[in-house]
Amino acid sequence: MEPIDPRHLPPMPDLMIAGPGQLHDDDLGVLGEQLIAHYGDVWVQLHNDTVNAVGRLLNCTDPPYVIPGTGTTCLDAAVMNLFEPGETVVVARTGFFGERLHEVAEANRLTVVPIEVPLGEPADPVLLGEAAAKSNAAGVFVTHVETSTGVRHPIEEIARAAHSAGAIVVVDGIASVGGELCDVHGWELDCLVSSTQKGMESPPGLGILALGTRGRARVELMKERPPSWYLDLKRWDWYRENWPWHPHPVTMPTPLVLTLLSSLNRILAVGIEEWAAQRARLAQRCREGLQSIGLEPVARADVQSNMVVAAYADDATTIVPFVLGEGIQISGGLAPLAGKTIRIGLMGRTANEEMVDRVVDAVARARKESPR
Ligand SMILES: *Cc1c(COP(=O)(O)O)cnc(C)c1O
Repeated sequence: MEPIDPRHLPPMPDLMIAGPGQLHDDDLGVLGEQLIAHYGDVWVQLHNDTVNAVGRLLNCTDPPYVIPGTGTTCLDAAVMNLFEPGETVVVARTGFFGERLHEVAEANRLTVVPIEVPLGEPADPVLLGEAAAKSNAAGVFVTHVETSTGVRHPIEEIARAAHSAGAIVVVDGIASVGGELCDVHGWELDCLVSSTQKGMESPPGLGILALGTRGRARVELMKERPPSWYLDLKRWDWYRENWPWHPHPVTMPTPLVLTLLSSLNRILAVGIEEWAAQRARLAQRCREGLQSIGLEPVARADVQSNMVVAAYADDATTIVPFVLGEGIQISGGLAPLAGKTIRIGLMGRTANEEMVDRVVDAVARARKESPR
């Protein structure tokens, strides 16, 4: 293969994949600025403002952790800081990312009680609560939005069911935060994890971990420190408290943090309620467009997510390359829906009506022109 000069990329498609989205022009400018030091007054102010902005977006009282890595880094951190090895957790197997939660729990030496969730359906809080009570589980793990199906799961009710069973809830909010309402304090979510490259409309490279009251209590009560220097939340707390000029244990990716702050300022200026409502309308427009050409959503009508539209398409493997040929990249399905669905992401600069109409139009033409 010929080497590609990163300064001169070939023409690249507009992104409407299931994440990441493309940056808004203003944020692209921030990302392209010269590096600044990861300590000192200006940086500390920017870092605090970023942590506070994430906290406002999630409505959490405990300051959230912003950790270099991705969302999955923080899933690992959640498991190792909130659970002792050998404890039991109930995992809602909602699809591809529900399975990943199962794997992350096992990789961190937890015992998993899996609860299968039918594709397209919401996870059942009653079933999860019963399973937690019966197995004396310490936690219930669930994805807020399962990106392989576009289903929004009822995390507030699941948190309540988990609490009644004496367990805490850990939520993968990677495909929800920024595009959906997500209220850590109000819904009593004990631990919520996210990434910056989806609904927060920033580059990949930062994970977010927010603790509710019960989550904080678990971290404080852990018998042993986690088997990781980097992902030990108490270490992040220590630097925050004792190194005010450098309130984190590692060199932060300063361009990513500044770009995140710039993007969150845009979302917070609109207000998360209005922002999420706009995204919901856009997702509805996308689903209606697809339905008008015969593609039915995977998600049941009352649990359809705002940022990822997944629709059944028996010709998915011809639609995706056709649409790419029109300059727009969308996603195919993830197992077990690989080859059977297309997925359209509504995040970043392409999350607008014009682009949704263009993508639906391209899918329509793909279906006429491709052999069925
Ligand atoms: C994208 C995604 C992930 C993976 O996130 P990373 O930031 O790549 O670690 C995990 N869970 C869900 C629900 C996702 O949509």
